[in-house]
Amino acid sequence: MAQATRIKSIGHLTHDVLQIVLEKPAGLTLYPGQAVDVAINKPGWEEGWRSFTPVSLEDDAELELNIKVYADRKGVTNELQTLKNGDELLIGDAYGDIQYKGEGIFIAGGAGITPFLAILKHLNKNKKLANNKLIFANKTKGDIIKEAYFNTLLGKNFINVLSDESIDGYAHGFVTPDIIKNQIEEGHQYFYLCAPPPMMTAVEKGLASLGVKEENIVKEGF
Ligand SMILES: Cc1cc2nc3c(=O)[nH]c(=O)nc-3n(C[C@H](O)[C@H](O)[C@H](O)COP(=O)(O)OP(=O)(O)OC[C@H]3O[C@@H](n4cnc5c(N)ncnc54)[C@H](O)[C@@H]3O)c2cc1C
Repeated sequence: MAQATRIKSIGHLTHDVLQIVLEKPAGLTLYPGQAVDVAINKPGWEEGWRSFTPVSLEDDAELELNIKVYADRKGVTNELQTLKNGDELLIGDAYGDIQYKGEGIFIAGGAGITPFLAILKHLNKNKKLANNKLIFANKTKGDIIKEAYFNTLLGKNFINVLSDESIDGYAHGFVTPDIIKNQIEEGHQYFYLCAPPPMMTAVEKGLASLGVKEENIVKEGF
């Protein structure tokens, strides 16, 4: 059942990604990588349910959402920008297809990072980060969500790919089969994929060309 939950803080993580910290809804149980239904508790918006993936962990005192705003669509994410501390969101039950199965390579596009942020945080907390790697695709460096955090967490296992900017130390272009292949090491059994639809299609094709079996791909489209 949906619960009205107060916003404790709201601000920008990047130019178009909001960080919203909420009071923890009572009784919400979720495993890392699961999403929840979210609506704005304001007249005219209570039925506008959208999916977002908490990046906080179940044991954390607060619920954190990282949300990319699509201002041009004039939908829920655009409206979220008008909210302030003390306003409320409605939070529904947890669900989702992404869940950690074992060591591998996480491949995210833009806001598709959120389930992986929760999973990698959880693995780190339990000292099970192992040799997991993250390939993170964005348009520009300014679009990278929590870059400093991932650098500290993963070091050389954090690979950035920028489509619209050429910078030393960052791959340029899209996530190609070659970029993925160069990162595969012994023990990498799973490929985790979360991105907007065009990137999902391209990377799934790329993984198939590398001989990765469907059952070794864990995915969710944004
Ligand atoms: C399981 C799951 C988890 C997710 N977790 C997160 C997360 O943690 N963080 C995050 O940022 N996102 C996440 N997403 C994506 C997020 O749910 C959508 O970005 C969000 O619903 C967009 O809502 P919106 O109301 O702003 O726009 P929409 O509902 O996408 O669009 C509003 C209206 O704009 C129009 N429109 C739709 N698409 C387009 C388009 N491409 N171009 C122009 N107009 C269009 C349509 O008229 C539509 O009704 C997740 C998605 C899923 C499925």
